[in-house]
Amino acid sequence: MVPFHFLYRTSLILLLSLGNMQTKLTFLGGAGNVTGSRYLIEANNLRVLVDCGMHQERDLRGRDWAPFPVPPETINAVLLTHAHLDHCGFLPKLVRDGFRGPIYCTPATTEIARIVLLDSAKLQEEDAEFKKKRHEREGREGPYPEIPLYTIADAEAVSPLFSPVPYEQVVKLDGGFTATFHDAGHVLGSAMIRVGVRLGRGQRSIIFSGDIGGWDKPILNDPTFFKAADYILVESTYGDRLSEPIEASVDKFAEAINETAKAGGNIVIPSFALERSQVLLYYLNKLLLENQIPHLAVFVDSPMAVGITEVFQHHPELFDEEMRKLIRQKKSPFHFAGLNLVTTVDESKAINHIQGTVIIIAGSGLCTGGRIKHHLVTNISRRERTIVFVGYQAIGTLGRLILDGAKSVRILGQQHKVRAKVIQLGGFSAHADRDELLQWLSGFKKTPRCVFVTHGEPETLPYFAGLVRDRFGGKVLVPGYLSEVVLD
Ligand code: ZN
Repeated sequence: MVPFHFLYRTSLILLLSLGNMQTKLTFLGGAGNVTGSRYLIEANNLRVLVDCGMHQERDLRGRDWAPFPVPPETINAVLLTHAHLDHCGFLPKLVRDGFRGPIYCTPATTEIARIVLLDSAKLQEEDAEFKKKRHEREGREGPYPEIPLYTIADAEAVSPLFSPVPYEQVVKLDGGFTATFHDAGHVLGSAMIRVGVRLGRGQRSIIFSGDIGGWDKPILNDPTFFKAADYILVESTYGDRLSEPIEASVDKFAEAINETAKAGGNIVIPSFALERSQVLLYYLNKLLLENQIPHLAVFVDSPMAVGITEVFQHHPELFDEEMRKLIRQKKSPFHFAGLNLVTTVDESKAINHIQGTVIIIAGSGLCTGGRIKHHLVTNISRRERTIVFVGYQAIGTLGRLILDGAKSVRILGQQHKVRAKVIQLGGFSAHADRDELLQWLSGFKKTPRCVFVTHGEPETLPYFAGLVRDRFGGKVLVPGYLSEVVLD
């Protein structure tokens, strides 16, 4: 079989300079698509990988099964912007395949990534087992091997390599590399990373935006602005749209809860365990404190979301002023009446037997795995129930199919009619929208040598790149998967 990466090796080599062939940036994911962020910097005979994400689009998962484009043992260090799977989820495979260097990230990212990777490995083990049995029963083969991409043991092997670094502290790496982490306001511990690279007698700076958060969002501080950089990699997940104002989303959320409670149905919320679940708790707490919704039982049915909520409580220093005030007043969104943090399978199953309306928050956020699939099976075909999407749904995921109005969907190997009410709340996004991304770029007072537009859907990338070019001028590129750029 032809290795998958060779099929994609249509490397567009963009020579920004022929002068120094040593310093090179290669886009190993999150380029031309949204997930699988991995950017490799090669300079002074060293290799540093920024982010090590897993691909989540169904069509692109083959990239994670293919041999890594460079031997993992030749990578000297990994810098991690944050603990979402599309930024860190490939680490266990990288380590299993030979990477042994340090993984630098903030202390909160270290704690969250450990939880996220273990959960990912567990889900993959379970899914592989489930698929194997299903394929045996149906007498067919799936597109990928019926083995997990990595195991729990592989995820555990990543843990000792984490090297936590607080915000704003300069890390000196070998070969004249430096790295500094700055608050990205996206999820707890998330960072934008400024990488310094020695180039001849000079120095070049590259800013990796990671995922950029919004301004005036609950719990976290606002994203950091920068004044100058030689190269910028900017994400563009929401580069072609404006988010719904958060107040409008909260009003719709309250209305959906009240209407569904009146109809006697459940409210099922597929949610990312990191940030979105805590933000939902923040607003449920607020709506309860303001008497805008009835006192219903709220279940966070996700061991990972429960674990991450604990990490939030370890890091009050990362909270914004409003959140600190709530904690001081003993009105924490993580401890309100009716809140149930569910970890065991028995507790999870017991939710199905409760009479009356309950609110269920479960993962995964894209409905690609986890307990949400079971809750969807129970609830999706009942008219009085409501499925509330609170996050971005990538193309090719079950969540996107439901959101796009599919009349029937395949969940856990069975077709299910979609009869429940489906709504989307756009204001809870942890991503900056189009105008906020441009606002972030407007912080740069000097035109950089090049802006690379990454981490966006295929149709969003050129559109957002056009906006950046029109607004700020200079060189703006949309790199493709495996494209290489020589930095000068
Ligand atoms: Zn993210």
